[in-house]
Parts: sequence; C-alpha cells; structure tokens
Amino acid sequence: MPTNRRIVLVNRPQAKASTSNFRLEELALPVLQPGQILIRNQWLSLDPYMRGRMNDARSYVAPQALNEVMLGATAGKVIESRNPKFAVGSPVVAYTGWQEYGVSDGVGVSKVDTRSVPLSAYLGAVGMPGVTAWYGLNRIIEPHEGQTVVVSAASGAVGSVVGQLARIRGARAVGIAGGPEKCRYVIDELGFDACIDYKFDDTAEKLNRALKEAAPKGIDGYFENVGGAMMNAVLPRMNPFGRIALCGMIAGYDGQPIPIDNPAWFLISRLTLQGFIITEHMDVWPGALQELGAHVASGRIKYRESIANGIENAPQAFLGMLKGANFGKQLVKLAA
Ligand code: NDP
Repeated sequence: MPTNRRIVLVNRPQAKASTSNFRLEELALPVLQPGQILIRNQWLSLDPYMRGRMNDARSYVAPQALNEVMLGATAGKVIESRNPKFAVGSPVVAYTGWQEYGVSDGVGVSKVDTRSVPLSAYLGAVGMPGVTAWYGLNRIIEPHEGQTVVVSAASGAVGSVVGQLARIRGARAVGIAGGPEKCRYVIDELGFDACIDYKFDDTAEKLNRALKEAAPKGIDGYFENVGGAMMNAVLPRMNPFGRIALCGMIAGYDGQPIPIDNPAWFLISRLTLQGFIITEHMDVWPGALQELGAHVASGRIKYRESIANGIENAPQAFLGMLKGANFGKQLVKLAA
C-alpha cells in the first residue's frame, strides 16, 4: 500500500510567509469506507487566496486550520472506488488539498472530459481562475465593443483570460505585468493590444504616462488583481462611469494592505467598484465553464503553466507565486 505525502500548516506567518510555516508529512492511506473514492492527485493548484487563509484574521472564509492539510484544488484520477457514481480511471477535479492522494465521498468532486481539454486546464483557464475572469469581465465590467479594459497581473491565470475574453467581446485589452518577457507574451501570444511592464515603468509618473499611451481614449473597465501602485495609477485614467471589478489585491497579501492614494476619483469620475468572491456565484459556473472549455479547445483562449514538481516543492512554488516568480497558472505536478 503506498503512503500519502502531504503539506500541513504548522504555524502562521508573523510578517511574510516562509517555508517554516509548512511541514511535509507522510501517512498511511486509510481503508476506503462504502461511498468513498480514492483519488491519485496528478495536479495541485496553488492560488493567491491561500495566503490570506494562513492568517487568523476576519475574512470571507475561516482561516486554514493548523496541523491540517493545506486546502486547495486538485485534479487527478479515481484509482479505487466504493461509490457507484465514480468509475476507476475517471479524471476528476476535487478539493483535496496539498497532498498526493485524496479520499472523498464524492461531494464536490467533478468528473471532467479530458478529450479536448487537458486535465491541468481544469485548474486554470477552464477552472476557478477562468470563471473568475469570466464573471468579473462579463458581469461587472460588461465592456462594449471598442471600449478599453485594463487588467493587472495580465500574464497570470486570471488576468490572461480576462484580456482574451475582452478581445473576444471586441474591446481593447491592455495588460499590466512584471517584466519584458511577460509583456511580450501578453501581446504576442495572448493577443492583447498593449501591455505595460510595471517593473520598467516603476514610478507613478512613468506608469501614468504608459497608461495614457496604451489607453489613449481612457479606461472604461479595470479588472484589479494587484492593488497598490496599479490601482493608484489606473484611477485617474478611468473614464466617467467606468467600472472596476475588484478581484484581488495580491500586492498586499504577504504584508500590509496598500492604501488607495486618492479615493476622490470614485466621486470625480462617478466610478462603480464591485468586489466579488467567485465561489459566491455558483450559478454562472456551468455556463462559463462550457464557454471557456470551447474557447480553449478551439485555441481561441491560450494559457501558460508554471509547473513545480513534487509535493515537497509546493511551499517554495507558492511563496514564489506571491512574488511573481510564476509565469501563468502555478501548478504542482504530483504524478504522471
Ligand atoms: P497569478 O497567476 O496572476 O499569479 C500572481 C501574480 O501576481 C504574479 O505572477 C505577479 O505577476 C502578480 N504580483 C504578485 N505580487 C505583485 C505585486 N506586488 N505587484 C504587482 N503584481 C504582483 O494569480 P491568479 O491569476 O491565480 O490570481 C490573480 C488575482 O486574482 C489574485 O489577486 C487573486 O487573489 C485573485 N483571485 C480572486 C478570486 C475571487 O474570487 N475574487 C478568485 C481567484 C483569484 P507579475 O510578475 O506580472 O507581477
């Protein structure tokens, strides 16, 4: 019988998260009870929201429990089944956490079709990040043809889909990303109209000038993934009655939240800002996933993955993602 290796949270970060917050454990696999399935996880999704859960702070969900397996989405194959709804060999997406195997009663486990969409994409463009992009763009920003949409963390799992969906709707897509390689990818591979490298345009003045050039008619919709300097630069360039989908503020996750310099812009430009948590909008998931799956299968939506190998490397990959070391959706490969 194989053993299961997993990562647990052993203590909470005092300031920045570090590998000392995590521990690798090895446990025997339990014997399956009637109704249960055993999943061999092939992919683990690493997501920025996990950083917030490491804190014992008020949020929209309870904190990650100490000495328990780190929570997270996984994709794999059913290798043993005592549940008639799941055949051995079925590819599934589940929420079994940072571990090599998952035992489940089948609740919250989705069977997926890997004939035209690879299994790992169900954790990215055709999974939670994709639906997040879909919701913020289509339900909050709702761009009209010819309008300009700006998205931060544009080469990442969510941002890359936002810009491509905006283009499909006939809008001008402008990305903000860290470094020339990411910006080249955003324009050349993903088809955005422009991309601003905030590491090059690294002052408020330069960022403002770059935004003026990339969005000469102003910004109608802003999809915020980062916060801080990005939000401060975008606000003065928003057109009257512009809409902001506040999806994430990753620049402040591993430290102090970063204030908005001049909230008067919300009044001056009569802006609407809507924060959202995608798991509270389950009604849109089936339709959005179907649309995203069709776009990925046809090649209209492209995506990129950063892959770490082995559960033991999950903490390092996670910490790297919080600093932009990932290039596209951050995954951990757990089995072939
Ligand atoms: P990404 O794949 O975009 O990875 C995170 C990226 O954030 C990094 O690659 C980096 O890109 C960027 N980043 C990190 N720190 C900074 C910083 N200080 N300044 C600027 N950019 C930074 O992650 P996801 O696509 O999974 O998530 C993107 C955002 O969406 C996150 O804020 C996340 O919390 C949010 N989210 C919200 C959901 C919701 O329901 N509201 C659901 C899913 C995600 P770069 O190198 O370009 O800086």
